[in-house]
Amino acid sequence: YGDPSQKIDYVFKVVLIGDSAVGKSQILARFARNEFSLDSKATIGVEFQTRTLVIEHKSVKAQIWDTAGQERYRAVTSAYYRGAVGAMLVYDITKRQTFDHIPRWLEELRGHADKNIVIILIGNKSDLENQRAVPTEDAKEFAQKEGLFFLETSALESTNVETAFLTVLTEIFNFVN
Ligand code: GDP
Ligand code: MG
Repeated sequence: YGDPSQKIDYVFKVVLIGDSAVGKSQILARFARNEFSLDSKATIGVEFQTRTLVIEHKSVKAQIWDTAGQERYRAVTSAYYRGAVGAMLVYDITKRQTFDHIPRWLEELRGHADKNIVIILIGNKSDLENQRAVPTEDAKEFAQKEGLFFLETSALESTNVETAFLTVLTEIFNFVN
């Protein structure tokens, strides 16, 4: 989880967006600290967390921003998006509405962020397969149409969280190199 003495070659800002309670904060906790909490409180105060990884022999500091309870439509400020080179657009596979809101989030993102921003669509809570309300195919199709990466994750079971971040960070890395 990063040697603090190492020199940093790149800092990449990545923002988490999506409806409230889809698991954004737990995805971040899993990635940054390998932690998970079933009774996570709404995020207050903490703006971002970092983790340094090595990509092609370069040290990359991922600075991951989490909405501080600003998940209402249009409540996320432009400062949140400023300088972001990656975005994770998260919905909950057990809550259809959170997927139906994705086009709005995408529109917001495209309105505020750099045009080259790398975006991944994430269907979280894949461990709750028996409560699934969003077929994988629907999301895959949407992602393809919009030119987004796509993965289903479980912050609880730690499934695909690392892969999701690596997908975004590697794509950004390849773009700047
Ligand atoms: P946020 O509002 O998007 O930041 O959502 P949170 O990270 O606070 O998570 C909301 C609730 O969903 C919490 O009770 C979490 O424990 C739970 N949760 C988050 N990720 C998962 C997951 O992958 N699987 C399951 N079963 N629950 C999750
Ligand atoms: Mg949160």
